[in-house]
Amino acid sequence: MGLYIILMGVQGAGKGVQAGFIQKEYGIPHVSTGDLFRAMKSREDELARRVQDLMSKGLLIPDDVTNDIVRDRLEQPDAANGVILDGYPRSRNQAEWLQAYLEGRGEKLTRVLLLELNLFEAFKRAFGRVSTAEGKSYNIYSNAEGMEWEFVDHPEKAYPPQLTAKLAGTDTVLIRRADDANAHSIIKRIDTYLETTMPLVEFFEGEGLVARIDASRSIASVSQQIKQVIDATR
Ligand code: AMP
Repeated sequence: MGLYIILMGVQGAGKGVQAGFIQKEYGIPHVSTGDLFRAMKSREDELARRVQDLMSKGLLIPDDVTNDIVRDRLEQPDAANGVILDGYPRSRNQAEWLQAYLEGRGEKLTRVLLLELNLFEAFKRAFGRVSTAEGKSYNIYSNAEGMEWEFVDHPEKAYPPQLTAKLAGTDTVLIRRADDANAHSIIKRIDTYLETTMPLVEFFEGEGLVARIDASRSIASVSQQIKQVIDATR
């Protein structure tokens, strides 16, 4: 039996970091459908163009296209012992397709790990995050030592004011990710999570597959919780 793990959680819950942990600990690849679709950018065919168009509008890719790309990925040699799925499934149809597909291969889903984080905390993790050009990150709410920050009025007096930050005692400006710099787009992402992911959590709960992980704790503690759940399931 392979290890088929679905990782779910609001943006900021630490899915990327924990996928890295699981990958290292259990030797199964991290499969992110968002990454698979982004990798199609260099292709010139009709399907790749359609995917690009939908992604640029923030729309979901049709289920049949998405299921096909997942099947191709699951059939690669490095996925022979299972995978960590991230960003997939995103609809009931995808969830049912995945279960039927695995069943057809004599496999089944091992666990759905739900990284639970209070949504205001998730907002602050994204909104308050700044980093150096080298990638060292800070947060105005939780990790502000060594930096200076202030809110400056928005040019159009829009709310909230803009956050500017620099390394303490220097002129080195700290950078915000474009998608974090806008409070409205963070809230939109949280809304989308509530609309698309929460119904799937209910679905998988009905199948007895969901394990709730407290994602407000330290990275190491979250990894520990994940390891306990996986080891108890295998
Ligand atoms: P992500 O990086 O997971 O936020 O995904 C980026 C984009 O890829 C999404 O906005 C969708 O356009 C597309 N995408 C990723 N995963 C899926 C999925 N499971 N179903 C449909 N579209 C997806």
